[in-house]
Amino acid sequence: MSGPPLFYPHGARIAVLTQEVVGILDYLAPEGGVRLGQLVVVPLGPRRVMGAVWGPGTGDFDPARLRPVARLVDAPPLAPEMIEFLTRMGEYTLTPLPLMLRMATRAPDLDQPPSARRVIHLAGAAPERMTDARAAVLQVIAEYGGAGFAPAELAQLAGVSPGVVQGLVKAGTLAETLAPRDLPYPRLDPDLPGKPLAPDQAEAALRLRAAIASRAYGTTLLRGVTGSGKTEVYLEAVAECLRQGRQALVLLPEIALSAEFLNRVEARFGDRPGEWHSGITRGERRRLWTMAAQNHVGMVVGARSALFLPFADLGLIVVDEEHDSSYKQEDTVYYSARDMAVLRASIAGAQVVLASATPSVESWVNAGLGKYARLDLRARYGSAELPEMGTIDLRQQEMEKGRWISPRLAAEIRARKDKGEQSLLFLNRRGYAPITACRACGQQIGCDHCDARMVEHRFQNRLVCHQCGATKPIPVACPSCGVEGKMTAIGPGVERLAEEVAERFPNARASVLSSDLFHSARALKQAISDIGAGETDIIIGTQLVAKGHNFPRLTLVGVIDADLGLQGADMRAAERSFQLMRQVAGRAGREGGEARGLALLQTYQPDHPVIRAILSGQDEEFWDAEAAGRQAAGMPPFGRLAGIILSHPDQPVVEDYAHALARRAAPLQAIGAELWGPAPAPIARVRGRYRVRMLIHAARQAPVQAAISQWLALAPKAPTNLRLAVDIDPQSFL
Ligand code: ADP
Ligand code: ZN
Repeated sequence: MSGPPLFYPHGARIAVLTQEVVGILDYLAPEGGVRLGQLVVVPLGPRRVMGAVWGPGTGDFDPARLRPVARLVDAPPLAPEMIEFLTRMGEYTLTPLPLMLRMATRAPDLDQPPSARRVIHLAGAAPERMTDARAAVLQVIAEYGGAGFAPAELAQLAGVSPGVVQGLVKAGTLAETLAPRDLPYPRLDPDLPGKPLAPDQAEAALRLRAAIASRAYGTTLLRGVTGSGKTEVYLEAVAECLRQGRQALVLLPEIALSAEFLNRVEARFGDRPGEWHSGITRGERRRLWTMAAQNHVGMVVGARSALFLPFADLGLIVVDEEHDSSYKQEDTVYYSARDMAVLRASIAGAQVVLASATPSVESWVNAGLGKYARLDLRARYGSAELPEMGTIDLRQQEMEKGRWISPRLAAEIRARKDKGEQSLLFLNRRGYAPITACRACGQQIGCDHCDARMVEHRFQNRLVCHQCGATKPIPVACPSCGVEGKMTAIGPGVERLAEEVAERFPNARASVLSSDLFHSARALKQAISDIGAGETDIIIGTQLVAKGHNFPRLTLVGVIDADLGLQGADMRAAERSFQLMRQVAGRAGREGGEARGLALLQTYQPDHPVIRAILSGQDEEFWDAEAAGRQAAGMPPFGRLAGIILSHPDQPVVEDYAHALARRAAPLQAIGAELWGPAPAPIARVRGRYRVRMLIHAARQAPVQAAISQWLALAPKAPTNLRLAVDIDPQSFL
């Protein structure tokens, strides 16, 4: 394959992709020349902006007026492979290239030479005078480890003013020094003995090793129930990749990045991998970015954005819990990290492993069509068995008013508690109560900026909007009728469930796992590891607990409201409910031994097809039926969808514009696509902006992106303040 030249001598005309809206502009190569992909700082009007050398200059801008590159950034250049990936992903997701470049250069301070960077780190004993603010700073250092913080970062993480940090420097507790050069990560040793594998694990590992040794692209769906040993198997694939001298990336849903997982990696390879997620410091981000570019980090474990790290020689991408909806980003750039992992691997000649107990229908179909290889682990590892599953028919239980744990479930919890085992109560609702209403007039409290109800959060003692995050105090008098003292909470959230648990099991230790109750990713990890160590009897959690944690003493899972989510209008409602409940149920009885797990679903509709599918254990039949339904309707992956989301502070403005767009949809008609809408979005107002959606439906092979680009290029001029987003392969229709 012949790409653009890799080097441009002094004075050559080069194209630089800037991070600004203007995109690609021509410049002159600086003294000493410049490499393709080199990050540079270029003049743009009176400003200086960062960009990357993108190829030979092509514009017809007057050569005499071309300006030279101002300076090179002290960072490794983007590889041609990365340039191709960003270009193709930009085309696929219809994302402008400057935004793609920003995603690929998300490491902070890249344009600062190390000599200009200062960091704060621990240097001495605790200060004599301790204040809450000082304690908060020391707490952050303890949580993140001692690698060093940018001065402003430390204050910000601790929620204190920069003066507090400076005070600790003066007191000698902290010191400010120049950042050392970024150090390579410790080498992982793939040849340390792994666990002896069970026969089906060994077979799967063998196949993956062979695939990686081929050094060619391929994708494998690795399916097996929770606890069947998928992680063990893909760690063997990582080992082979490391033996080849190539790099391996393991993507996990953010919240599953537990200490437990890192410990397993350390046990297998003798040291820790590089970590990339919201809980690492700026210094660590920069280090990982530069080391990835130089193959000085063998294995990276990260959240979805780790896919944009500049790996020098990527040989394997594992997407664990591949069906998880957190792999889809739906803001600024709309993309699926799972699908883009496949794109990146196909460019890099790398292998992809998609691991899941409950794959997405898309991956299931791709495996069925032979586009992906498929490996199955059929049983749980060792003596551990799948939990027994059953329903509790709430129509036949005497439920007390204001209580959500049925007598039958309560008895099971008590029995576990007496044996020193853990129970998990699952309710996918954050906060205390989903509705706050006035008993006098029936008015429900809504958000002032969104089309959403406010949710009471009793720990914060406020009402919170889950759309925009706005909060307000719980009113004493009803804002509608003015009657005082009649505001009442309706329905349960995890906080209210915790209250019920405290009342009914006063001697049990309970903990609530909900994303809003932890101030940092680290704090959450700590809570999870405490639970794993057995310091809790009853865990109350949202979907946070469904993901990849090992709680060895957990033998009972109670799903408080299995009906929640069954009724969605979205084509994935059944699939999502199935995945979530399977996954939650799979938390029980992972360790085997005497205690076989039990999962009980509280429901008013025990005969609902999804509930029946979960109980029957006939997963393949369930997916086949879902896939057949999608095929009959021409839905993904048998057909293609793209969402168009428009918003504006004025409802008529956005509606008029959407209709104007819809009237000129000839380019879409030309490829045989249908345009549905415009219609008000199900959540019609968010943050004070009115939202309108359109949905494009086309055949699988139709050139949807090209048609959408043409269509939008012909669009009438947009009113100021209008936002338009294109969501290729949408997952959410809200
Ligand atoms: P999954 O990723 O499919 O949920 P894991 O790989 O986490 O499954 O395995 C479940 C449990 O079984 C873990 O505690 C793991 O350490 C253990 N396990 C899996 N395979 C083996 C093996 N071959 N030898 C010993 N323990 C194993
Ligand atoms: Zn709101």
